[in-house]
Order: sequence, then structure tokens, then C-alpha cells
Amino acid sequence: MSNPYRVQNPKTNTVIETFDFISDDDLESALATAHDAFKEWRELSYDNRAEKLRKAAQIFDERRDTLTRIIAEEMGKSIKEGDGEVDDVVEIFNYYADNGAEFGADQEIPNNQDGTAILRKVPLGVIVGIMPWNFPYYQVARFAAPALMAGNTVMVKHAEICPRSSQQIQDILEEAGFPKGAFTNLYASHDQIATLIEDSRVQGVSLTGSERAGRQIASQAGQALKKCVLELGGTDAYVVLDASDVKEAAQTAWNKRIGNTGQACTSNKRIIVMEDIHDEFVQELISLADAYVKGDPLNPGEAGEHEYFPLSSRDAAEKLAQQVKLAVDAGATLHTGGELDTEGAYFSPAVMTGIPVGSDSFYEEFFGPVVTVWKASSEEEAIELANDSLYGLGGAVMSEDEERAKKVANRIDTGMIHVNIPQARGAELPFGGVKNSGMGRELGPLGMDEFVNVQRYFVAD
Ligand code: NAD
Repeated sequence: MSNPYRVQNPKTNTVIETFDFISDDDLESALATAHDAFKEWRELSYDNRAEKLRKAAQIFDERRDTLTRIIAEEMGKSIKEGDGEVDDVVEIFNYYADNGAEFGADQEIPNNQDGTAILRKVPLGVIVGIMPWNFPYYQVARFAAPALMAGNTVMVKHAEICPRSSQQIQDILEEAGFPKGAFTNLYASHDQIATLIEDSRVQGVSLTGSERAGRQIASQAGQALKKCVLELGGTDAYVVLDASDVKEAAQTAWNKRIGNTGQACTSNKRIIVMEDIHDEFVQELISLADAYVKGDPLNPGEAGEHEYFPLSSRDAAEKLAQQVKLAVDAGATLHTGGELDTEGAYFSPAVMTGIPVGSDSFYEEFFGPVVTVWKASSEEEAIELANDSLYGLGGAVMSEDEERAKKVANRIDTGMIHVNIPQARGAELPFGGVKNSGMGRELGPLGMDEFVNVQRYFVAD
């Protein structure tokens, strides 16, 4: 496709609007503007920058109706879920406005060298962000709010299917008082991003996306000796050790898996259930899946209480259907669902068991509403299964006995692990993974340290 930037409603697969790639000349001038803006932006006080972040949070909040409608049409998120996403964005901007000065404050280091040693956090310059479509506003906020609060300027290449939402973010920040060039939305090609990463005015790159993109961007950053943060895929384990109310336990697991139509990096993509409750648990999941009907992202609730929404694109839905087929060919059982719409990107919620451990399907990320369950006969086996992953993003362990759950959770090798909650949320909680899930952390205090020069500043007595 010569120009992939487009709004293509996944409900119908209709292209509504297309956008031209930025020209090389315009890209150069956008970079020059971002670089100039950095010189001005870095000199502002934290208080001054915080004021603009707070104003941005306020505008996001006020504009939520427009924002949620845009992504409903771009990538199929129901406006109800979009509303929750906007809440998270508001929270993130306010969090860094409230705490950024403290995170960026000088720290004196005791020393024996006849002088004063200080750790200063100095902004780096222009940082490039490459973002995915699954949470079009939230992913950008996680990267951009702390980078901007630290005094950097940012250029964002969003997913090709999110051209309106990405421009909205730039518009909101400019309206909030950010100088031109502090945040630039780019309809850039992959080659143009490679050029940016090489340019000496760019000081870092942050990617949220697939493992494949992670390898490419990390290579380019490595070649150019640039810092990179990678937030990649995941096949998070969700271990259910016991439950007095199996129905409720299945419902909790289901709610997590069906969120964002299964298209979340930290969705519970591998549910591991102890054998004594396994069959009842799976049966409950099947009943839940069967109750779901197609919903309209712009009118959630219209078709019923339990609705599923289209995936982000027809391509994504076709890929998922193919993955399910390959898993069944490898020996898995598809209990229900997995039906692909004839035209749009609807894919009915599926429940699968028995994907052979060690098969290609076992290690793959199913980025959609496919609930996959494995049976474990001991805690040891559950831990082994949980850790048998190429990824290491998040995970959860559920039990009525907290100590039992903690004992298992302590042995799971992921960047985030939870006990008795599918996932904790909050701008203050660091987010990120290990292994093929990437490197670096977003959110919390750590999120503001990723794109700063932690400088030794020494003054002799
Ligand atoms: P993707 O990798 O295809 O695309 C993500 C972004 O990277 C897009 O903007 C795309 O155009 C860009 N991109 C890809 N290759 C590039 C290259 N060579 N040069 C420049 N830009 C490039 O991923 P996707 O399918 O849009 O998103 C889904 C993936 O993202 C899943 O694997 C999911 O788990 C992951 N994800 C991870 C997190 C996290 O925080 N860890 C969050 C959300 C999504």
C-alpha cells in the first residue's frame, strides 16, 4: 500500500479518510522545529512545564466525547472503554505534573572528595516515540508525559490506522500551551523513522509494539548508539490455584481477557488452572463466550449486555483466525467461537484448551478474544508452565490463600506480577517487561528517568 495512514472503520472495513506521508523536506523542518523547541522547553521550570501538563489533562477530560468517537471509528474500541482510556490519560498527565519536580530534583551524593557531588537529571533532547493502535491515547501519554515533563521534546509516529487520534494529541498539547515542536505528530514511513533515529539531533527512541518491530528499532538504535525503551508483546500467565467459587473465578479471568477485545499487551493470554477446578472453570468460560453478541463501538449496550467489538482491522482478525486454525491443527480443542465476520473485523470470542506445550502456537501471542487454558496438577507444574514463555511482561496468581499465591508469584519471571488481582493499574505503578517483552519502564518515578542524562555534577570546595 503506497499510503497506509488511513481511517478504516473495522466494523465495516470501509476506508473513510487517507493521509499523505510527510515529505522528506517537511520531516527535516519538523525535526529542526522540535530541536529548536527543546532549547526553549528545557529552560522552563518544572512548575511551568507542570502547568501545561495539567492544562493538557483538563482538555483531554473535556474533549472525551470527540476522542472516544475517533478511536471507535479508527480501531473499534467501544466508547465506553474509550472513556476509561481517557481517564487514564488524564491521570498520567496530572501525575507527572504533580510529581515531576520531585522525580527530577537534584540529589546530593555523600562523597570523600573535598567537594559537593550532585546527581542532576538533565533532559536529553528530541525523543522519537513509535506507538501502537491498541490504546491510541494512553500509550502516547505513558511515553510523552514523563519525557516532556523531564524537559525533552518528542516526535511521535503513531500506528498507521490512528491518524486522527494522533493529531488530536498534538492539537490538545498545543492548545494547552506547549510550544510548537514540543510534540509533533508525524505521518512517517518506517524508512523516515530510521533516518530520524540516525540523526544527531535525536537522542532516544521509545517503541510500544510488536516483538518484530522491537528487533528492528533496537537494531537501528544500537547502530546509532541511541538509548531505546521497548514495550513489546506478552503472553501473560494467569494462574488459578484454587477457588471456592469457580464461576466467579472464571468470570474474573474472562473480564480481564475480553477487555479491549483481547488486544492488550498484558491480557491474561495463558490461563493456567489447577486440575480439580479446571473442567468447571472451562465450562463457565464457554458459557460466558456463548452469551456474547456483536456490538457497535459507537453504541455500546445497544445489542445487549454482553457485546464484543471488532478487532482493530480486518488484517488483524484474519491473522487471529489463522493462528486459531494452526493451533487446532497442532492438536488444540476449540470449544466455541472463533468465527470471523465476512467483511468487518469481528471475531467471536473463542475458548481453547490443549494447545500442546512446546508447539509454535504455545509460544505465540494471540492478540484478540481467544481464551486459552491449560491444566496443571501441581504448583510446580503451574510455575513451570508460567515461565515457559519467550515473553516476560506481566502475570497474576489467584488463590484464597494469599501465602500460597505469593509463594508461586515469587517464582514467576516477569516485569510485573500480581497476587489476587488480574492487574493493578495506576500512573504511579511502573510498567514494563523482561525477555522478549522488551526493556525499560514506563509510568511511576522510573518512567521519568528513562530519557534523562543522570549527570554527575561536582563542585570542588
Ligand atoms: P506493530 O509493531 O506492528 O506496530 C507498532 C508501531 O510500530 C506502529 O506505529 C508501526 O507502524 C511501528 N513500526 C513497526 N515496525 C517499524 C519499523 N521498522 N520502523 C518504524 N516503525 C515501525 O505492533 P501492533 O500490531 O500495532 O501492536 C500490537 C503489539 O504491541 C502487540 O504485540 C502488543 O503486545 C504490543 N503492545 C505492547 C505494549 C507494552 O506496553 N508492552 C502495549 C501495547 C501493545
